Amino acid sequence: MIITANNPNRKSWLEVPKNSDFPIQNIPFGVFITKDDIITIGTRIGDFAIDLAALHQLGYFDEIPLTDDIFLQDSLNDFIADGRKTWRLVRNKIAAIFDVTANGLRDNAVHKDKVIFRMEDVEMQLPVAVGDYTDFYASKEHATNVGTLFRDPENALMPNWLHIPIGYHGRSSSIIPSGTPIRRPVGQSKPAEGSKRPNFGPSRLLDFELEMAFITTDSNHLGERIPIEEAEEYIFGMVLFNDWSARDIQGWEYQPLGPFLGKSFASTISPWIVTLDALEPFRTDNPEQVHEPLPYLKVDGKKSYDIKLQVGIQPEGKTETIVANSNFKYMYWTMAQQLAHHTVNGCNVRSGDMMGSGTISGPTKDSYGSMLELSWRGQNPLPMNDGSDRKFIHDHDTVIMRAHCENEAVRIGFGDCTGKVLPAIEFKK
Ligand code: MN
Repeated sequence: MIITANNPNRKSWLEVPKNSDFPIQNIPFGVFITKDDIITIGTRIGDFAIDLAALHQLGYFDEIPLTDDIFLQDSLNDFIADGRKTWRLVRNKIAAIFDVTANGLRDNAVHKDKVIFRMEDVEMQLPVAVGDYTDFYASKEHATNVGTLFRDPENALMPNWLHIPIGYHGRSSSIIPSGTPIRRPVGQSKPAEGSKRPNFGPSRLLDFELEMAFITTDSNHLGERIPIEEAEEYIFGMVLFNDWSARDIQGWEYQPLGPFLGKSFASTISPWIVTLDALEPFRTDNPEQVHEPLPYLKVDGKKSYDIKLQVGIQPEGKTETIVANSNFKYMYWTMAQQLAHHTVNGCNVRSGDMMGSGTISGPTKDSYGSMLELSWRGQNPLPMNDGSDRKFIHDHDTVIMRAHCENEAVRIGFGDCTGKVLPAIEFKK
């Protein structure tokens, strides 16, 4: 099926600001609440939110086989489970409805009133009910930097790392949409020099992790696996992902079973899922792999994506300072390899599952995806525009992540992924 929604020459009759992340070629999917307190599945063009349940009720999707309530839901899980053919038909149809030459909805004021909202009049929700969340560790630069800082510079990369897309199972209940404030976590950390008891209190080394995550559809039955050639068929789309991390809690707890409370207190995502279809024009060469991967991890064709990434820190009442510029293409292991690996043991993947990339660090010091690396564990504090500096994240700071792809014809973006840090709630014990 041709992805007509991607036609770079297409224009919309809805106004799209210059440099918008959401031209008519994007057509992401999300969930929002309207001013009338109705929760619905929608898409976005420019600064307009479009109610897909209303469009469906008015008959605009009549030629596509969809159940009546497919968009009248508080999550995209059922729509995603309908599979890639349906996603493509719906995206193509939305593009046709809002094409500058289409005169159906455009000329119907009553319908427009029911379907189109200004973004400032809706409240974005989580796009999916996340069943399982897995976080990978797939940037070679990040794994090398963290291995150097946490363990041993001589053997920074563990011997398995170049053969396996390393991952762990994260906590899905604390995944929150952009704009939700987070509480500084409280927990145990390493005993101070000369002390026999661990420290306990608010984390002093609160960090962000610049990641992206992909969202899957129902993929395989328990006991079966997804061949790598088919893996991308099961990826619906991607979001920005801030895997908030408390480095002091993490450093004390992570051996022998890996990250736990240092990670599980919150992860922030951008609320619009940008489909893999919309990212199609931005495929780029896969990173060169040091060892030839085992056959089940061998990819054919371009499975990397050129997505520019940025992180800023905004102290309360001050201007933002950009602290990192990275790119999704720096990932050593591609999403297809991650999904093939995830299921090689027969683990079943379901609609609405979320797979974090792991921190995306590039080759240069200004492209690292965490404060741990950017400040080199606090040795090199980063100057802020307001004259202060940062080793890690302070209370009342807002962390802002952005992502977009760009070529001569079109820019496809993800919108902001923001979170403000509130002071810890302290306990008596
Ligand atoms: Mn992570």
